[in-house]
Amino acid sequence: MAATTDYKLDFTTFYNVINNELKSTPTTRTATNPSTLAPLPAVPVSTQADVDAAVSAAKAAFPAWSATPIEERAALINKFIDAIQENFSEFTGLLAAEGKPPTAAGFEVQFTIMHLKASVSLRLEEEVVEETDEKIAKVRYTPLGVGVGIIPWNFPMLLGAGKLGPALLAGNTFIWKPSPYTPNTALKLAELGTKIFPPGVFQALSGEEDLGPMFTAHPDVRKISFTGSTATGKKVMAACASTLKRVTLELGGNDAAIVCDDVDLDKVVPKVALTAFNNGGQVCVDIKRLFVHEKIYDAFLAKLVETVKTFKWGGSEDTEGAFFPPVQNQMQFEKVKDMFAQIEKQGWKTATGGAVEAEAGDKKGYYFQPTIIDNPSDESRIVQEEPFGPILPVQKWSSEEEVLKRANNTDMGLGASVWSSDLDKAERIARKLEAGSVWINNHQDLSPFVPFGGYKSSGIGHDWGIIGLKGWCNVQSLTIPKKA
Ligand code: NAD
Repeated sequence: MAATTDYKLDFTTFYNVINNELKSTPTTRTATNPSTLAPLPAVPVSTQADVDAAVSAAKAAFPAWSATPIEERAALINKFIDAIQENFSEFTGLLAAEGKPPTAAGFEVQFTIMHLKASVSLRLEEEVVEETDEKIAKVRYTPLGVGVGIIPWNFPMLLGAGKLGPALLAGNTFIWKPSPYTPNTALKLAELGTKIFPPGVFQALSGEEDLGPMFTAHPDVRKISFTGSTATGKKVMAACASTLKRVTLELGGNDAAIVCDDVDLDKVVPKVALTAFNNGGQVCVDIKRLFVHEKIYDAFLAKLVETVKTFKWGGSEDTEGAFFPPVQNQMQFEKVKDMFAQIEKQGWKTATGGAVEAEAGDKKGYYFQPTIIDNPSDESRIVQEEPFGPILPVQKWSSEEEVLKRANNTDMGLGASVWSSDLDKAERIARKLEAGSVWINNHQDLSPFVPFGGYKSSGIGHDWGIIGLKGWCNVQSLTIPKKA
């Protein structure tokens, strides 16, 4: 049996990983722990030369990696998963310092492992699509080449891993570009990768906001898989057009949840509360517009407030089992602060919360009181925009037709849910929702086996599942005559 220390890493120094070498840069930068406002360990600031070196190594590694039998590639990814497991507590601590209480950070590491394990079990089979006496036509899937994952700051490990696993499994080489706000875990994962994968197969580079565009413009990158805001997604797509790179865009959301009048409040309210405030409202598929039937509105709202008040908030230093984090960075803090300022400006009625805790002096980091806005108008900013912070509008509805129209009246279409004890009714409503993921009596019920992507401005293409894996491939139709 291998010694348990084979893959133990030092978590104090951070490097770019290029061609399995750890590389420093003349300039470095630091991200900030949002709960203590202390700087995280310094990371490289990559230049065009670093990008060129990484892309060239990835391109050089591609022929051998793509020719490696899939079972061997899968075995190496499984080894990598074991290596993450070996550094579980270190990754948890680092992820906590990047923005969430240790309990939530531990969940993310666990999900990262689970996600990678599931994606490595997927296989793309060749499909026979036509057969006659003369010929047989098959569809097969071939890897694209150099892939780049551009990752946001809200789930720095999980969202990158959801691209890395399928990309490598399909036979692509992969470069991970983390958000400047959360660069540390990605660099350590790639460092771990140097102990397992051949040079150039898995690399990571950190930098400033000019780094993403260097990858989207690079002629030797064949695919960009991007997760982030809709505004940046549009820039990514425009930049990829000139080289016809494949793009997958996982973008913003403004998820509606429709609660019918027949629900059991004791069962439903805790789930709704959790999936509205999960990660402090900083999940693309958090509930962001909650529609509650007018018959139960008051009772539902009272119970929701009661539940949200029990939630424990904390940061990397938390020892009391907090699950809900501060806002991750100062840029987002300012955006959410502006939304909180609208409470007074627009005269919104709060059912709970309303204050910026960081300013009240209770807590040092980017904390807000979890806030619920009681029945704002459909036109209000809190309903129209994705706040990406701990503030939720709850609105009344009376007829199915009307609530569907309101739920779909948005340019976003990531997730949505229907809550009812009548499953037929719930499904009838669910099928009319314009969103890429629709759940009944649940929200945010994500799985590595289920494709994830958006309608409308919430994205193009999918991550995860067989459809996600196909997104890392060319489609080739191969027509073979039956006689030579
Ligand atoms: P962002 O768009 O600001 O940044 C995302 C990534 O893009 C970062 O790594 C950033 O450095 C990089 N980037 C910035 N400008 C770029 C450019 N011009 N070209 C290439 N890359 C560039 O998003 P964010 O603030 O990090 O994340 C929050 C947003 O992400 C929210 O809108 C949220 O809903 C969305 N999100 C979507 C999903 C999903 O799966 N659909 C998941 C998580 C978050």
